[in-house]
Amino acid sequence: MDARGKYALVAVPAPLQEPLTYAVPEALAGRLQAGMRVLVPLGRRRVTGVVVGFQRESPVAGVKEVSEALDDEVLFDRAFLDLCRWAADYYVASLGEMLATALPPLLRTESRVVAAFAADPESFHGDLDREVLDALRKRGPLTPAALGRLFPRRGVKSALDRLAAAGAVTLGERLRGHVREARRRKAARPERAAETAVPGAAPVLTREQQRVLGSMEARLRDGGFETLLLHGVTGSGKTEVYLQAMERVRSRGLQSLVLVPEIALTPQLLDRLEARFPGDVAVLHSRLTGAERWRQWWRIAQGLARVVVGARSAVFAPARALGLIVVDEEHDYSYKQEEGVRYHGRDLAVVRGRIVGCPVILGSATPSVESYHNARSGRYRMLELTERVEARPMPAVEIVDLKSRPGQAAGEKLFSEPLLRALRENHEQGLQSLIFLNRRGFASFLQCWACGFVVQCPRCSISLTYHLGRHSAFCHHCDFRQRKPDACPGCGNLSLSEVGAGTERVEHELRRLLPKARIGRMDRDTTGPRGAQERIFRSWEKGELDILVGTQMVAKGHDVGGVTLVGVILADSSLNLPDFRAVEKTFQIISQVAGRAGRALRPGRVIVQTLVPGHYCFGPARGHDYPAFFATETEFRRELGYPPFQHLVHLRIDGADGDKVARSARDLARDLRRREAREPVEILGPAPAPIARLRNRYRWQILLKGANRPALLAAARRAVALMPRGRAARIHVDVDPYNML
Ligand code: ADP
Ligand code: ZN
Repeated sequence: MDARGKYALVAVPAPLQEPLTYAVPEALAGRLQAGMRVLVPLGRRRVTGVVVGFQRESPVAGVKEVSEALDDEVLFDRAFLDLCRWAADYYVASLGEMLATALPPLLRTESRVVAAFAADPESFHGDLDREVLDALRKRGPLTPAALGRLFPRRGVKSALDRLAAAGAVTLGERLRGHVREARRRKAARPERAAETAVPGAAPVLTREQQRVLGSMEARLRDGGFETLLLHGVTGSGKTEVYLQAMERVRSRGLQSLVLVPEIALTPQLLDRLEARFPGDVAVLHSRLTGAERWRQWWRIAQGLARVVVGARSAVFAPARALGLIVVDEEHDYSYKQEEGVRYHGRDLAVVRGRIVGCPVILGSATPSVESYHNARSGRYRMLELTERVEARPMPAVEIVDLKSRPGQAAGEKLFSEPLLRALRENHEQGLQSLIFLNRRGFASFLQCWACGFVVQCPRCSISLTYHLGRHSAFCHHCDFRQRKPDACPGCGNLSLSEVGAGTERVEHELRRLLPKARIGRMDRDTTGPRGAQERIFRSWEKGELDILVGTQMVAKGHDVGGVTLVGVILADSSLNLPDFRAVEKTFQIISQVAGRAGRALRPGRVIVQTLVPGHYCFGPARGHDYPAFFATETEFRRELGYPPFQHLVHLRIDGADGDKVARSARDLARDLRRREAREPVEILGPAPAPIARLRNRYRWQILLKGANRPALLAAARRAVALMPRGRAARIHVDVDPYNML
């Protein structure tokens, strides 16, 4: 595309299908390039957009002009724009929407903040002007906000305006302004305890690790796209393989991108990265402030960090010299974005690898069925680590049948005798135990024993979860809160009881059963404040806690040597979800949580409580036999036409008026059926969503299913086009959905 074209195609963060055309003003002709940000008029506002191409002719007359260029150099390279274009197309979104999802918020705003100084101090209006200029000279570029903090309540803003008018400072743009700061600062990262030391030197690889690394050697050296599925049991040294692969790539001067499910849950991986690559790591995570995030972006874009680690959205990190992408725990559901453009971070990582031409390593002890299927069918290369490092044994997994234990089926007793006995013994020996339940709060719901009334959220069709510590019932979807009523709101009887258990009740019960044990809890309720999660984890790591109770937060990558016992309170809670991946999820969570046990010298033991001990997921979980699980699971998937054999697109229609939403959904399904009659796409529904109302919006759904992806995506696009624009009902498209509640 000719960079000197008269018209620029600009993608703006708005739900439009195509980039908009703007005239390039004389002053910018020849300077503007694809991949630069510009300020453009849109309606009555001015918004930030990204130039994605040029044209000689305008398709319409009288187009508006680009107001301003925001970058002096290209911020987004071809590969980045190609990735966004691919993702927009695949996830049925506009390029503008995709860019809005991919870019840090700072990059999308209009305000200009940085004051970079230029020396021409002629006309000062007072001391403040001189002091501001001095500060800029000494410290380099600063944002007006930072200057405001330096000179509180002294009218910095008007001083800057005066200085700018006099030509003494230039109000530059963030990009330029943060350069110097970025070079000085160390990578921002979640709070860490100073006393945890991690050795920087690489250990001698095990034979399996050597074999795996050896088989990717050529790929790491010569580059080229290939997806490698590293299937290694928990504790088999996958992370060490990533580190050494990254080292290979780094020694060629290239960057590595590491995706992890959640940064706050992987403090140990960060420790290891920083110990191995000191000063060369950039971390992207959701708790960064805008300025911190921008600083990290800048370091990455400039190649000042050769190791980039972050959660899902880091797949859009602006690394221009990518030599390797690693997706750790590739099966993890948090890679799926559940709002806006619903992309999958792992899948986009593979696409990005293909676009830039570099290898992609997907690692897991329990690969997703899709990835394992791809490896089996030869699309990915399978690499396996079958043994734990130093021949540590896999933990012994026992299944406890709650049915045969009276009182427990009704949920009165949370701990079966075998689990309680094991907990006591473990504690007496000074060893650590991990207790897992995939539900937070004290009671799942409050129900009246006299009339059956269940306390519900007034905005969602969901029962409220009771939290004892906060004396209130909460909606886990919209955070609605209500104090626990004394009497039943339905019949007035004083018979509201707390039914079902969450982690809060487990902790409560444990304190009663083992009064001497030091007990901690890790779930969304205890990890709210910044750094809280890491603090709990660090005291767990240092052995200051005997028992840690938690939700799936405790199941992920932790490596704590003292943990020898893992208890799963109720495996059924995930097994019974209305989701075709429920069994896969349960198998994964049991294997992962079991993988926390016995990682040091002592062997581990895992006790799983369930009401359905005969379920097909338990045999393979006991035997640490992923292929056995995969074989049975894929039989069902094939039979029912689910991924990886057929693909899904989930269409949700929602709105404030239930009748209108229902009508829209029915109309849409009818129109789709009329047109899809001859196409290989199955249209299921419409039906009310399992959560039929959420935050006062009524929800219906239509499921598209088919083995032919292009036909499926075409149908999804048609659905969007068929849907009348307006407020009554909106459509949300979810390609390869994970959450269909
Ligand atoms: P995974 O990622 O597969 O769960 P890790 O890479 O975390 O496994 O390795 C598990 C433990 O073994 C870690 O404590 C790690 O430091 C250690 N480890 C990994 N590779 C080796 C090795 N070759 N020699 C000694 N220890 C190792
Ligand atoms: Zn609610």
